[in-house]
Amino acid sequence: MVEEPNFTLTFLTEDAKRKQIAEDYWAGRREGYSWIWTETVSTIAARYGMPKHLLPAAVREIAKAFDTRVKCSECSAAYELTSRSALTTKHWGSFVCARCQEERVRAEQQKRREEGAQLAAWQRATIAELSSRAGARDYDSISYAEAVVLYAIALASDETYESGILGNAGQLHLCPSDGLTRQLLGHLFRKGLLQFSPDTPTSAVEPGEGGVFSYYPFEVRWRVSPAANGATFPQVFERLGRIIDLRQKHAGYEHSVLDLWRDLAFDDAVTFLRLEIVQYRCFSEYRRGPKTDEAVQHALKNFAIPQVRRIIKSVVKEAAAYSTHRGYDSRHAQNTIPGGIIRYVDRALSDHWKVHPLVYDWQKEEALLWTVLYDRVLAVGSHGFNTLSENMLQALLSSQAADQTSSSSGNNTIQ
Ligand SMILES: [Zn+2]
Repeated sequence: MVEEPNFTLTFLTEDAKRKQIAEDYWAGRREGYSWIWTETVSTIAARYGMPKHLLPAAVREIAKAFDTRVKCSECSAAYELTSRSALTTKHWGSFVCARCQEERVRAEQQKRREEGAQLAAWQRATIAELSSRAGARDYDSISYAEAVVLYAIALASDETYESGILGNAGQLHLCPSDGLTRQLLGHLFRKGLLQFSPDTPTSAVEPGEGGVFSYYPFEVRWRVSPAANGATFPQVFERLGRIIDLRQKHAGYEHSVLDLWRDLAFDDAVTFLRLEIVQYRCFSEYRRGPKTDEAVQHALKNFAIPQVRRIIKSVVKEAAAYSTHRGYDSRHAQNTIPGGIIRYVDRALSDHWKVHPLVYDWQKEEALLWTVLYDRVLAVGSHGFNTLSENMLQALLSSQAADQTSSSSGNNTIQ
């Protein structure tokens, strides 16, 4: 062991000739605040007949050098010097030696493994608890809108119709956007109409704040709650169909249909608007403000959904052209869209423009709830979808209600 003012050497060999190489390399003296090396690396390397750049590595095999001023903050081991330049490097803050760092990494990995195992156990227990907690449901007290949504879900697959099991909720094209589909699944779950299946994947649930949990509606394996009266699933769905066919005889009919229509129509229009905007590279990002919402609602009051799509397509195209031809910046061009929609609607109304509907394949591409709402509930089909604005829908519902009062003989209203 050779003591130096700032560092110590620990030899790894007993060979005196080799020890001398390390001693020569680390030999020096303090002069004031500086450390002066006795000989240059070139001189020593030349003496032992080796290339200068290989000397530090050769020395490391002969002796370990430790800086006695710098201690590991965890185990107090001295800082190992790999070459001369390491001695002059200043150390700010705390130093943790390689061994302690490895130990830290190992501890961190172990902690993550334990947390992962804890989370998986929590997820399994939560899904087991959720799927066992859910009980049977009395389908006579279901709301009109809930009957429509559940009926649409049952129509989507034979498996659901027969056994109440929803295959892949993510493929269920219930609403124009997946966001609204997730919301509706969540609503049916909160109302006890849908339940978690025991074979729901663990990744579907996550611990939330304050002991609650959150879940991913498209990852849950849902099943329709069994009927309290022991009815089979085909019987339940037949019952839902009969509730839907009550129409005005159901107290919640008009209000439910309008609310459901408004949610779907708004979702359809803003989803379409977002898709139109993102396909133009000139618009930086899609942002939806209150003016957009107002413009979309104004359009939907006066035009059918496929007509509103046509209006949006035309206005976005025009805004994109502004942006490229007149050198508007993209934010400014994008900001003209809500006002553009409102102006388009007002001109089309005052000049009696014929706005051609922009339609998809009615059975295969439109959202499931659109087809159920127009074909089954309103019984006006795709023609109604292509022509009825919100104002016209309201008038239709009122006239149906008037017919109902004049022709109604019995009172079989179901709340
Ligand atoms: Zn250490």
